[in-house]
Amino acid sequence: MATQIALLAALQEVDQRLQRKERDLHELRQQVNAMVEEVAHREREAEERRRRIDELEARHRALEKQLKEEEAKIKEKRVRLNRVRNERELLALRREIDLMKEANSKLEDEVLVLLEQLEREKPLLAEVCAQLEALKDKVGHETSRLEMDVAALEQEVQRDRAEREEIVRSLDTDLCARYERIFARRGGVAVVQIRDGTCQGCHMRLPPHLCNQIQSSYLQNHGTIFQCPHCGRIVYWHPAQGSDADA
Ligand SMILES: [Zn+2]
Repeated sequence: MATQIALLAALQEVDQRLQRKERDLHELRQQVNAMVEEVAHREREAEERRRRIDELEARHRALEKQLKEEEAKIKEKRVRLNRVRNERELLALRREIDLMKEANSKLEDEVLVLLEQLEREKPLLAEVCAQLEALKDKVGHETSRLEMDVAALEQEVQRDRAEREEIVRSLDTDLCARYERIFARRGGVAVVQIRDGTCQGCHMRLPPHLCNQIQSSYLQNHGTIFQCPHCGRIVYWHPAQGSDADA
């Protein structure tokens, strides 16, 4: 195998490894982000429930205060009732007291409804908070595990990049650029063998005269770079895996 082709094949191996690891890294980071996002979501949910309870309690306090004030007014009117001698005035006052009592009993009903709501809401909040704490615990453990995986993978990527740099230093610059363009365009496969006269990248047959040229270039160690006329990938031939009869 010509040296440049061998280097290209080695470069491709590193690049494919890098591509896989970078995909893995991306996925791990997404997993971490998803967990952080879930915690934030649950926190918002707990916050909303807490706010709802605060509102109910504020309303409850306001109603109790109003009730007390109204009851004081009723008491006052009852005192006045004892002093009124005029029959009409007496009836009017009694009527007034009755209406106020009626209004108060509506307020009392409202208070009961509020208390029932609070009784329902409070355990729900407690449940959400307990779930949130458990989730935070789990996420804490998992994210630190994932972050360790990320760190290990980042180190591997760095080593692969260093290896890549070394290969690239020995490669012809134009050839390297050509390889990179093909690698990007052809789904991470830029350098392929020909086997039985067929490109192993696109699985199309190469013209026989081209196969002969590629084979003799290998045998005479010309180091010429050939590309598949169908997919444009860099093709090479190797006796260990190629078939002499067809190639
Ligand atoms: Zn091809």
